[in-house]
Amino acid sequence: MERLRATDIMYLKGVGPARAKILGEELGIKTLYDLLHHFPSHYIDRSHFYGITSLRSEMTMVQVKGRFVSFNILGEGARTRLVGLFTDGLSTMEVVWFKRINAIREQLRIGSTYVIFGKPSEFNGRWSMVHPEIDTPEEVESTIGLRGVYPLTEKLRNRGITSRLLFNLVRNLISSHLKTVADPIPAEIRKRLRLMDRREALLAIHNPRDNNQLTKARERLKFEELFYLQLNILSYSRRRSIKFGGYSFTKIGNYFNSFYSQCLPFDLTGAQKRVIKEIRRDMNSGRQMNRLLQGDVGSGKTLVALMCMLIALDNGCQACLMAPTEILATQHFETISQLAAKIGVNVKLLTGSTPKKARDLIHSQLTDGSLHILIGTHAVIEDDVKFARLGFVVIDEQHRFGVEQRAKLWRKNNVPPHILVMTATPIPRTLAMTLYGDLDVSVIDELPPGRKPVTTLLRMEENRLEVYRSIARQVKQGRQVYIVYPLIKENEKTDLKSLEEGYEQICETFREFRVAFVHGKMKPAEKDAQMTRFASHQADILVATTVIEVGVNVPNATIMVIENAERFGLSQLHQLRGRVGRGEGQSYCILMSKPNISSLTRKRLSIMTSTTDGFIVAEADLKLRGPGDLEGTLQSGMGINLNIANIATDGRLIQLARNEAEPILESDPSLASPVNEPLRREMHALFDKTIDWSMIS
Ligand code: ADP
Ligand code: MG
Repeated sequence: MERLRATDIMYLKGVGPARAKILGEELGIKTLYDLLHHFPSHYIDRSHFYGITSLRSEMTMVQVKGRFVSFNILGEGARTRLVGLFTDGLSTMEVVWFKRINAIREQLRIGSTYVIFGKPSEFNGRWSMVHPEIDTPEEVESTIGLRGVYPLTEKLRNRGITSRLLFNLVRNLISSHLKTVADPIPAEIRKRLRLMDRREALLAIHNPRDNNQLTKARERLKFEELFYLQLNILSYSRRRSIKFGGYSFTKIGNYFNSFYSQCLPFDLTGAQKRVIKEIRRDMNSGRQMNRLLQGDVGSGKTLVALMCMLIALDNGCQACLMAPTEILATQHFETISQLAAKIGVNVKLLTGSTPKKARDLIHSQLTDGSLHILIGTHAVIEDDVKFARLGFVVIDEQHRFGVEQRAKLWRKNNVPPHILVMTATPIPRTLAMTLYGDLDVSVIDELPPGRKPVTTLLRMEENRLEVYRSIARQVKQGRQVYIVYPLIKENEKTDLKSLEEGYEQICETFREFRVAFVHGKMKPAEKDAQMTRFASHQADILVATTVIEVGVNVPNATIMVIENAERFGLSQLHQLRGRVGRGEGQSYCILMSKPNISSLTRKRLSIMTSTTDGFIVAEADLKLRGPGDLEGTLQSGMGINLNIANIATDGRLIQLARNEAEPILESDPSLASPVNEPLRREMHALFDKTIDWSMIS
């Protein structure tokens, strides 16, 4: 493979400097290796020949074997075209070219046998084909089976670089260079996992015999890619755990113990206890902790975070909690200062709107060590915020923090603080393994007792009156209701309008009730005022956009109505649903949808009505939509560029790759042995810089 990587594409037969230049510019194909790994986007089946009389206009692409009888150039100017009369021995058809007329005329001979391949069309009882692909029968025979079709650009097509040409170049390359390619995956693994060998897989990915062979080739190539990725992740994490020591929190002291005995308002759930133990053990290992805490909305992550902060305090360190919005930071601040009020912990809130005087006090208390817990927004990572001894950092709803912001936190100390990233977005384990690199994962998979699962219903416009009646019933019983509208950037104007109209309609319909109204475009002060009205039950109904998605806690709310539910992603719907079902009352989530939705949309929404398990929802969302944002972050943020594997849908292979990578690194951490040397070289070539996983933790 080194040779293929080192050889300029220009030197391949049929390429040359001009084509090499444009292939590089348009497709990033610079070397033989690049061409070999430019995989087809789909395949055409070239195993069947059609007679001209059996053609039908609804056929997409067909191939016909025959001879040219004559060539004529017809028309003038832009209408100039070359028309060849083509016969299969029984009937004739026209083959037409508008471009590259001279070159084509020179290539083709009257009387020789060719196979033409293209879309047939009929006009006045006469069949024709425009710009077909043309092969000799020998060529067709030698590539029997499925033939790769490659992603191309307009510019390439205009220069006569077709999918067909790429296919031929790849075949040249394979026959001239691939005979000697060694397989870096150890034979033992290949045999055990029944993986195709590399040479066969590369051949088959471009020109598989049949679908079965294609599937096996894909599997092999995906595995390989994921295998290097896992080797990279794991070897990074090994090196780091050697490099970075961390605070060792050996003690459980006064803060933790008196909180446990005096302040805990309820028993911890089994899952909370287990997770606190996991975190404790990690923080006492002498190595810096990087842990992802997953827990469905309402599973009680905040309490876990607080108790771990108290362990930090018991060991003479300070703690910090960072939240993505001011509302959330404030809410955490209130919860935590209330919970910890009795045990004399100094907790302060720092956000963009903290007045100068309060800010100065925070700064001085942070440096003299008398401030124990700092809670805030991005404001806490500004350069002038300095800690005396920051030992533990909690990041809530991490996906809203950029990579750089997290990296900044990392630099706040000489000894890196332990880091706990909390998320309510359930990420399937295999995806977390890749996205969060070497983060250890803890899961709270149990809700506090007494919670009744939220009942989710799908309703259409014609059910609106009935929905309104249930709202009225609940409000009369003293409950509160959320009504959420989509507000999506691309449609901001129309969305805002329907939100405002919706608000007016609700005020109109429910005159006897008090209605609050918030959206992200409001001034923060106005927004806060409206939220506070709802939270303190001075309003019965809150009409809102997804600004309420994260973290808002109003246990008295029992109905969540989501308008235009078909426009939301499943994970987002799940987050919204998590706003209800937080108190004793039975809660409902009502998905309002327009009636004529596609079957895919219906399927998505029916996942919501059939389960309340966030992991099932997330898995389904990934499968139906692909990794979307997650993949974007992954690829741009960390320089990973997966060619064939898909971190969202190839979970099984990720796990397999992980399982195989672990023992190899266990016995040979730097991949220095002769057997592993090729793996190391491939891994480095694929991920040219070592991915700095710390940047995302
Ligand atoms: P999330 O995981 O969504 O951040 P929170 O930490 O906000 O969840 O907790 C949700 C609610 O559950 C809070 O009102 C909290 O006080 C309550 N809670 C947390 N742990 C328990 C428990 N063990 N038993 C009962 N209620 C709990
Ligand atoms: Mg929370």
